[in-house]
Amino acid sequence: MTVTLAFLPASEIGHLVSMVELAKHLVQQNPFSITFLLIRPPFQSSASSTTTSYIDSVASSGLDIHFVHLPHVEPTSNPSPEAFYINYINSHKPHVKHALTQLLSSSPSTPIAALIMDGFCLTMTDVASDLGIPPYLYFTSGALMLALTLYLPTLDTKISCDFQDFEGQVEIPGFQPLPPLVVPSPVLNKKSDGYTCFVSLARKMGFTKGIIINTFTELESTVLEAINEGLCLPDNPTPPIHPVGPLLALDREPSENSNPCIEWLNKQPPASVVFLCFGSRGAFPEPQVKEIAFGLERSECRFLWSLRFHSGEGVGNGMPTDANVDEILPEGFLDRTEERGLVWPSWVPQTAILAHPAVGGFLSHCGWNSCLESFWYGVPILAWPLAAEQRLNGFQLVKDLGLAVELRLDYKGGGLVSGEEVERGVRCLMGECEERSKVRERAKEISEASRKAVEEGGSSFVHLKRLIDQLNK
Ligand code: UDP
Repeated sequence: MTVTLAFLPASEIGHLVSMVELAKHLVQQNPFSITFLLIRPPFQSSASSTTTSYIDSVASSGLDIHFVHLPHVEPTSNPSPEAFYINYINSHKPHVKHALTQLLSSSPSTPIAALIMDGFCLTMTDVASDLGIPPYLYFTSGALMLALTLYLPTLDTKISCDFQDFEGQVEIPGFQPLPPLVVPSPVLNKKSDGYTCFVSLARKMGFTKGIIINTFTELESTVLEAINEGLCLPDNPTPPIHPVGPLLALDREPSENSNPCIEWLNKQPPASVVFLCFGSRGAFPEPQVKEIAFGLERSECRFLWSLRFHSGEGVGNGMPTDANVDEILPEGFLDRTEERGLVWPSWVPQTAILAHPAVGGFLSHCGWNSCLESFWYGVPILAWPLAAEQRLNGFQLVKDLGLAVELRLDYKGGGLVSGEEVERGVRCLMGECEERSKVRERAKEISEASRKAVEEGGSSFVHLKRLIDQLNK
């Protein structure tokens, strides 16, 4: 018998795509009918057309996956980007309720077996309860971030001051002590709206029926063990945890092979190019762009740089736009590096680039999807975390997983990263130093492990089966 599921993703590409990939895996293994309730992103961005064509391709694939576009709600401003976003999602509550009610009435004899929600959508848990639909969490980041989030209400009482002023180390079950400044940005300042929203979402996680997470056991075994043992939720039972990753959309754009970035890569020697890309939101002010350019020039390495611009203004800080490279790069930079570099001022086909044999390193903002994509293709990372939980990911990659070279960043002062430091980092990532050899070796191992995890009989494959069993009960 077909089992109906509803999915409620957050609107951003980094949250939406892996959830759709989960849906694809589920319907391929079991007779599920899945309906996505889509919230429009608060801002149009260069990611929008990629997301639209990806959704269209899944909608027309013949799989039992459907998309309902919820009516748009105008965002209201808030100085905290996280509070802005959580409030924006929450303002769609009446539309979510209406869409779920319609879904229920379209097939009165079939209940909805689960509402699977992104963490930012957990304010809708009460809607699910009102309609008798079991709520599940789909967590788009890694297990360390999940452990920290589940443990946050406990940390909140243990650490009375702001994390940014805390002089000790932050202890998370299953992981080494953390320097306080690597905790996610909304958590740093207890007086911010972002913090309040975040803690309230964290409290809801423990009351879900299950937590599905885009990671795999071999990558984060000790943290996953600690979560499973209930150490992160000392006061409540921990819901079943399903690490089913990596969930990646590797065939997002069929036209990718004719993309100019790929054509340029086709002419470069193997493993010679460092790729710079900072996710869907990452962009720098002009002085930092100039320092990166100086660093790249002095490193003498080949590079492919996705360079986007951010005015820093607007409700919720808006989204980056395509960069006017002639205006923001140092004079003569493009001419001087013409033979060995390509600056692309817009969205790039990241997975196709990481898959390309000419790419030997990735200067990344350490968004979780970018990390998983890099692991998949065995590309070593130079970590430059910018916002959200990226510092935590970067710390984990460098200090725990040995999958990234560290870029020395000034978390406290927030000053510019100098051209010299960019040069040092890029040379270390791409040159013949000992650190590079170790990171490369680890990248190769984790690439194999991530592929094995999703193969038949692999750890994530087995967890997916367990999830399917739970959803069928
Ligand atoms: N991405 C891309 N082209 C770009 C920038 C990003 O294809 O120019 C994709 C990238 O492959 C990843 C997603 O967008 O799948 C970004 O997710 P991530 O978690 O890395 O970062 P976020 O955008 O959430 O900060």
